[in-house]
Formats: sequence, structure tokens, C-alpha cells
Amino acid sequence: MKKHNFSAGPCILPQEVLKKASEAVVNFNNLDLSLVEISHRSKDFVSVMENARALALEHLGLQNKGYQALFLQGGASTEFLMVAYNLLQDKAAYLNTGTWSSKAIKEAGLFGEVVEIASSKDQNFNYIPKGYTIPTDIDYFHCTSNNTIFGTQLNTFPETSAPLICDMSSDIFSRQLDFSKFDLIYAGAQKNMGPAGTTLVVVKEDILGKVSRTIPSMLDYKVHIGKDSMFNTPAVFPVYVSMLTLEWLKEKGGITAIEKINNQKATLLYTEIDRNPLFKGFVATKEDRSKMNATFNLVDEAHKETFDKLWTEAGINGLNGHRSVGGYRASMYNALPLESVQVLVDVMQELERGA
Ligand SMILES: *Cc1c(COP(=O)(O)O)cnc(C)c1O
Repeated sequence: MKKHNFSAGPCILPQEVLKKASEAVVNFNNLDLSLVEISHRSKDFVSVMENARALALEHLGLQNKGYQALFLQGGASTEFLMVAYNLLQDKAAYLNTGTWSSKAIKEAGLFGEVVEIASSKDQNFNYIPKGYTIPTDIDYFHCTSNNTIFGTQLNTFPETSAPLICDMSSDIFSRQLDFSKFDLIYAGAQKNMGPAGTTLVVVKEDILGKVSRTIPSMLDYKVHIGKDSMFNTPAVFPVYVSMLTLEWLKEKGGITAIEKINNQKATLLYTEIDRNPLFKGFVATKEDRSKMNATFNLVDEAHKETFDKLWTEAGINGLNGHRSVGGYRASMYNALPLESVQVLVDVMQELERGA
């Protein structure tokens, strides 16, 4: 039986998608060839890339609004530097809400002045800073919408006249936002879209071309746009699986429909964390809790051995927290069924009954 996969990333993908993808590895589009052994310039693959790019914009409601979707390589970590390479002339402002924001800040610092306008580092990132002001003399403002490791999520985004850049690696396509407020969104595929190896970048074209430095071709968004995201050989398999996941999402009714289920999953688990006297949540303020990654711990470590045994026996995978937080982390990405969260809640209640 398939495990209840709460892995933080690489993470669960829809079963139907995995099945289709595995078939394409052997025989793609009845070509009697594998997806991974045909030319990326063949019409069969070109249409995969076109479809994936179009679906990404469609889900975000950004078609015909001056945006381009790219499927690049190098992970979200390469976007930390690419964003600054392409956009940071003098000064940029960053909101520091966790490990990934901190890494983005470090990379941007190689290209210009970086102002950390607020940080929750003082409390091991267990809340989202609020009430900060964003300077006006900046090239862009950068934030991380969902903090995969600490389990916090931005519910509101600040108003700024500067371009708004967001790392949405771990919550893209999980909830409805006014995506047109953002000028550049990036997301490593392996959290909510596909296998590791490709990164979605959605960029508003008119913010590009404003820095004076020379940008190496592979790191230049304009070059990738000019080549329809095919400047060099793309990661054909991750792009194909991402396309299948985006098609799956469309069949499910899109972001609005999946968000309803994501809300049910989060409510089910957080209600139990709050009710069950054996558990406590990690995030300090309820409104900052992530609907994708729920971080929690046992009140009494003495229950650890029993709890670990119970959830493992129940077929649950990937529940251990990140080493910088400890405890547990239940990642509830789009493809995780509500039933899996119910299994976890049942195990938490079983532990309580036995305690
Ligand atoms: C996982 C993650 C990253 C890093 O992604 P890579 O593709 O491994 O470079 C960056 N940001 C966030 C929010 C993440 O969850």
C-alpha cells in the first residue's frame, strides 16, 4: 500500500501523474521512444514545454499580462543569485523569515546593498514579522511566502511601489492570491509541482533590463525568455512531470478547488495539535501557521519512542522535523489526500489514549 507521505521535499506527487510519467519514460506519446531519449527540439517535447509554461500562467491568472513563465535549472537556490544578478543595481530590501530567506539575503549581498527590513531570527523564526516599513529607494523587495522549515506562512503581502519578488517554492499553486501584485515569483519544482531538477520562474518582463552589469547568458532571464525557455537542454523529465501535475490540478478545479482541501487538511491537523494535551505547536502566533508545513512537538519527550513507532506502523513517512527546529513536521502539499492527515490525527489520539 502507498505510504502516507508527509515529506517536506522532494515530496508527494499525485499517483496518476507518477503512473503517466513512468509510462512516458518507456514509451512517450506512442513514439516507441522514451521521453528522456528524444530531442528537446522535437515537436513532442516543444509542446510539453509550451503547455507547461502556459498552464503555469493560467493557474496564476497571469496570461496576457506581460508575464513569462520559465522552467530553469539550478533549483530555487540559483534564483537567490539570479534575482539579484538581474535586478539589483544599488539596493534591495529583504524580509528575513527563515533559512531560505537568509540564504537569499546572503547571495544578494554579492551584488549590491541589501537591507534586512525585519527578521524573526530572534525567536528561531517562529513568527512572521509585521509592522515594518519598506524603503522607497530600492530596486525590489523580496520575501518568502512559506517557510518550509519553520512552518510559518505569509497571509498578507506588503504594499510597495518597488517590484515585489517572492520565493514561493513551498506553497505555489496551493492557495489563491492576487498574483498580479508580484513582479517575479520563483519556485523549485520539488515542493508542490514535480521532481527536483527544474525551477519555475514567472517574471513580469518590464522589470528586466534595468541593471548596468553584464549578465552571463545562463543567468540572464531575458536570454531564457528570448529562447522560449529552451536556451539550453531543459530538464525534460522534471518539466514533463510538472506539466502533468499542472494538468492534474486543472482537472481538480485549479487553485481555488485545491485550496479548499488544503484548508480542510490544515484545520484537521492544527485542531488536533491544539486539543491534544500531549502535543504543542512550534509557531508562536496562530495566524502565521503554514497550511503546507505544520511544525509541532511532543510536550513530553518520554512519548517519543511510542509515537514514532505508532506513526511508522500506520504507514506514515517523512514526519521528522528539520534539525533546526526538531520535533515533527507534517508537510501537506497539494497531492496529499485528506485521508492521510486523518491517519496522522488518529495516531495522535491513539497515543493520548495509551498515555
Ligand atoms: C526547498 C526550498 C528552497 C531551496 O530549493 P532548491 O530547489 O533545493 O534550491 C528555497 N526556498 C524555499 C522556500 C524552499 O522550501
